[in-house]
Amino acid sequence: MERFQAFADAYPATEEEWEAWEEILDQLDVDKWLDYEQVESPVEWLYCFRLPGNVYAIYELLHDQQAMAFLIPGEERALLLDTCVGLLNIREVAESLTDLPITVLNSHDHFDHIGGNALFEEVWCYNDPAAIAHLTAGPSERELQEIRNRTKYVRVILDFQGESVSESIPGKAPTGTVEDGQIIDLGGRKLEVIHTPGHQPSCIMLLDRENHLLFTGDMFYPGPMYCMFSDSSFPDYVKSIRKAVNIAEENGVEQVYTSHNLPTASTEDLRRYADFLERIEAGEITDYQIEDGYPVYAMDEVYSISVVGEGQEPMVLFDEADGK
Ligand SMILES: [Zn+2]
Repeated sequence: MERFQAFADAYPATEEEWEAWEEILDQLDVDKWLDYEQVESPVEWLYCFRLPGNVYAIYELLHDQQAMAFLIPGEERALLLDTCVGLLNIREVAESLTDLPITVLNSHDHFDHIGGNALFEEVWCYNDPAAIAHLTAGPSERELQEIRNRTKYVRVILDFQGESVSESIPGKAPTGTVEDGQIIDLGGRKLEVIHTPGHQPSCIMLLDRENHLLFTGDMFYPGPMYCMFSDSSFPDYVKSIRKAVNIAEENGVEQVYTSHNLPTASTEDLRRYADFLERIEAGEITDYQIEDGYPVYAMDEVYSISVVGEGQEPMVLFDEADGK
C-alpha cells in the first residue's frame, strides 16, 4: 500500500473520506494479483497483466466495479473484449500492447463494460435491439451517477495529480453485431461467440477452442453476481451457466477468464456454481440474505447471486424503451 501513502499524506481528505477510500483498497486485496505477470501500462490506474494463451487483462482500478477488459491478439487483428467504465483512455493502453488494428466487442451492454467504446472505430455487440440502442445512446444519467458515486475517492486523487478524467461518457453506435455460434477470425486465431443470456439479454461468452480459453463476461466471476435487473432472467441465467460448464469441460478449459475483481476463476468453481444455481431454482436452497433490498444467495465467501424476490420490482439501470 506504499504507493497510496504519498497521496494519503498529501491530500487533505477528511477522516471519513480516507476511511471510505481505505475500504476500497482493502477490497482490492492487491496481494491476490501477485500471481499474475504485470505489464507496464502507459495509463496509471489502468493495470495490465499478461495471461496464459497470449491474452492481456486490462484492469480498471479507478472504479470500484473493478471491471476487466481483455485484449486478444490474433495475427491480423486484435479483439478488445469490453472497454470498462471509460473514465480513462483504454485505447492508449490497448495500443501499447499490440500494433494490430483493434476491434471492440462488448460482452454485454452494462455501463462498466462499454465506457471506452467511443474511443474506437470498430465496435461490435450481440445482435440485440436494446443493447444496440443503449450503446448508441451511451450511459444513462442514472448510470453516470453510479459511475461518479463509485469513483469519488480516486477522482479526487487524479485531480490532485492533475490528470484529466472524462466528465461525460459518449455513446457509440455499434459498427457490427455478432450472433450465437459466429466465428470471429483474427487471423491465426478464431473466437466463437456463445450467447449466454441471464444477467442481461445481450450477454455473450467467447470461446478460443485451440487455446482452451473461455471468457465468461459478467455471467461468472469471483465475487457478488447479479440477476435482479429489469432485463435479467434467472431461468436463462441458470441454463447459460450450465451451458458454459459443458463448453468449458468439452474444450479442456481449466481457468475461465472473468470480467470483475480477478481475471481468472477455475472451471471447477464454475461447475459448483451451476450446481448451486440449479438447487436454488429447484427450491432446495432457501437460505438468503437481503442486500440492497434484494435476496442474495451465497455459495461460499466468494461467489453469490442477487435475484428478484417474490413480488419484488427488479432494479432499473436504464430505460430500455429509449436506450437511456
Ligand atoms: Zn453487467
